[in-house]
Amino acid sequence: MFGGDGQVIHAKNLINGAWRGGEAPLEIYNPSDLDELVGRYQMAGAAEVEEAFAAARAAQPGWRAQTLEQRSVVLEAIAQAIFARKDELARIMSREGGKTIPDALGEIVRAGNIARFFAGEALRLRGEKVGSVRPGVDVEITREPVGVVGLITPWNFPIAVSLWKLAPALAFGNAVVWKPSEKTPGISVAIAEIVQASGLPAGVFNMLIGAGPDIGAAVVEGADAVSFTGSSATGRKIAVRCAERLVRVQMEMGGKNPQVVLDDADVERAADIATNGAFFQTGQRCTASSRLIVTEGIHDRFVAAVAARVKALKVGNAGDGATQIGPVIDQSQFDKVMGYIEIGRAEAGVPAAGGDLVSAGTRGHFVAPTLFAGTDNTQRINREEVFGPFASVIRVRDYDEALAVANDTDYGLSAGICTSSMKYARDFQANAQAGMVMVNLPTAGVDYHVPFGGRKQSSYGPREQGSYAVEFYTQVKTAYITP
Ligand code: NAD
Repeated sequence: MFGGDGQVIHAKNLINGAWRGGEAPLEIYNPSDLDELVGRYQMAGAAEVEEAFAAARAAQPGWRAQTLEQRSVVLEAIAQAIFARKDELARIMSREGGKTIPDALGEIVRAGNIARFFAGEALRLRGEKVGSVRPGVDVEITREPVGVVGLITPWNFPIAVSLWKLAPALAFGNAVVWKPSEKTPGISVAIAEIVQASGLPAGVFNMLIGAGPDIGAAVVEGADAVSFTGSSATGRKIAVRCAERLVRVQMEMGGKNPQVVLDDADVERAADIATNGAFFQTGQRCTASSRLIVTEGIHDRFVAAVAARVKALKVGNAGDGATQIGPVIDQSQFDKVMGYIEIGRAEAGVPAAGGDLVSAGTRGHFVAPTLFAGTDNTQRINREEVFGPFASVIRVRDYDEALAVANDTDYGLSAGICTSSMKYARDFQANAQAGMVMVNLPTAGVDYHVPFGGRKQSSYGPREQGSYAVEFYTQVKTAYITP
């Protein structure tokens, strides 16, 4: 069923422990080389969605009844299989998603670590026993699984985001119906194989390949709780429907993350941080630094240093060891990023770096990393998420203006500052309107054992990851007991 390296992958949906066909075919081509067919899949239809939910409903009580240790062992097996297959998984992610091999490996190891972390969390499920205001009564507060959770995930971190939902869902006794992005079905099938082989009873975990508006929407209809990561536009629709159904929802969405650079920063270090945050992973990160907000005294030196780095980045085939920046994932992303480059030219003139097409020897979706300077925070390139190798520089007078501009956005995922001043670093930590703050670090790049998430239109609902994940994947019961 599953193609080896360089072969075409043939795969289906995983329902009730069996690989099942579907309604419509799906073909995926390598974004680094559009002449290479990577996989042929069968997308689920309404019947498969119904079967997946029926299987999950039937299997969940048995999974819930298993001991903490049995659940922990399954999570550990998933982690170990991810580590063991990491090189093969990296090649799949590179071929279908355009990630460089080092980027893919980093994400895969992170996903394995997330599964390992939740193998531990499964054992640490806590309750509380408290006194009653009534004599002779005990009060116990316990956590129970939510039931059948629907997980909807994006293509840009197809294994890490998936694991940071799947792992806590399973660790705390839920059954899962997962709809990964239809742009990265190959890695999703590999994850499903790994989960399936981990000792999990059939039906506890189901994976459906399919498009968002039909299969994704159907998952939202059937689940007791929905965890979604993707664009704010899709998230808004899902939130409305979950509110109508009165089911809990957790959403991680877009970003327009600021990277502030103050006069007292080391210019070379700040340029490294900004280049990494804005352009690595082809800028296709929700935490990418897309607005570089720079005070006057360092502005010109900083722009020159970043532009030099951006021009030197090696764009090319993601499977080539020398490549630093792979292609964007598909034609629609390519058109979107090229569209914003045109908007940038109209709003800010000639780019300080990039802006042109890249020839990499194959037919692929390659975009030159592009930097605009002399931009204004009111411009579209500074208000809308581009999600590609694209950043702009906004010149400001001082720290106070930098903070105001950083916070003047609809989003609030990650915010960074480069400074040698503890006073400004601490003030930024306290006053940046973002779920995550980075001091002298890129806005992207986070640990796997602590909460992840944002504010405003970047996030909605309880936090993901770390010990905070228990809030979404369990529900609380308060019991009053007297003999
Ligand atoms: P997307 O919203 O297009 O799709 C995300 C998922 O939702 C996919 O599986 C898709 O099939 C599904 N979907 C689409 N329409 C749906 C609908 N009507 N009902 C149910 N499901 C539907 O996003 P994308 O292009 O896959 O991912 C890129 C976006 O994800 C960016 O905005 C990025 O910032 C965001 N993102 C956020 C985080 C985070 O943690 N904050 C992490 C990664 C990506």
